[in-house]
Amino acid sequence: MTRARRAQLTRSFESDCAFPACILFYHRVSNQTINDWSIRAKNFERQMYWIKQNATPSSLDEIRLSQLKGSRSKAMVGVTFDDGYGENCEFAIPILVEHKIPVTYFVSTHYVETGEPFPHDIANGKVLRPNTIAEVKRMAADGVEIGAHSHTHLDFGKPLGKKQLKIEINDVRKKLQDWTGQSIDYFAFPYGLKANITQGAIDAVFEAGHKSFVCAAGGFNLPGGKANHLVRCHGEPGFAAFMNWLTFDPRKVFGNSPINFQNHEPQMPTLPQRTLVVPESSHAVLN
Ligand SMILES: [Zn+2]
Repeated sequence: MTRARRAQLTRSFESDCAFPACILFYHRVSNQTINDWSIRAKNFERQMYWIKQNATPSSLDEIRLSQLKGSRSKAMVGVTFDDGYGENCEFAIPILVEHKIPVTYFVSTHYVETGEPFPHDIANGKVLRPNTIAEVKRMAADGVEIGAHSHTHLDFGKPLGKKQLKIEINDVRKKLQDWTGQSIDYFAFPYGLKANITQGAIDAVFEAGHKSFVCAAGGFNLPGGKANHLVRCHGEPGFAAFMNWLTFDPRKVFGNSPINFQNHEPQMPTLPQRTLVVPESSHAVLN
């Protein structure tokens, strides 16, 4: 996608107050034991610097509310983390706190409580330290929003009973609220693709009191679109791939929404019709 087409799309977002919001998800920032879910500290810092210079770093609440408002006059970017890796407290969180970049940090409570490594790290052959309860409390005290990422990082696409849903959703929310003193408002489904989410689990997330859930399906949040299901895209370790997301490739912005559930949306205001100029070939299905 050419730079000119991207610039044309950005101008149309500007004139129509229709900027999409991009919510990035990362897992681990570290300079050691780099794997597919890690990014080096200097690369992460460069990305955060770019966001600060070229976009409006925003909390999930700010993005959710602008979804409801139905218009967005600036390019909002959200930063989130999944799982809860101990090393994030050495690099990532200090960078974000120093630069006042809002972040929602989703943790799976079982690993934080026990110190046991995550199953995906065991499967990968290199175990890594999860955060401790003290670290989660400290992050919350430093202004980091804590979010729920289940108890045992299970796949919600599998059939689950009510008792298990309570342990993995309701009890986690209560526990994190006790640890942090915050209201836990957002839930991130582990693995986060369509196959890992069911309507029953979504219902349980809202019944437990969360405001919204996030997935990892890749994509943007168009103003006036869903507010209670926010879509995230991967925080790519490479800068070119990162830029490809954040400079509005229309194939990504207008790609088909991969997840469609009954979504517990609040009453939406009636929005005026827009005449958004979309460069040709923009509706191509993403690979
Ligand atoms: Zn996860």
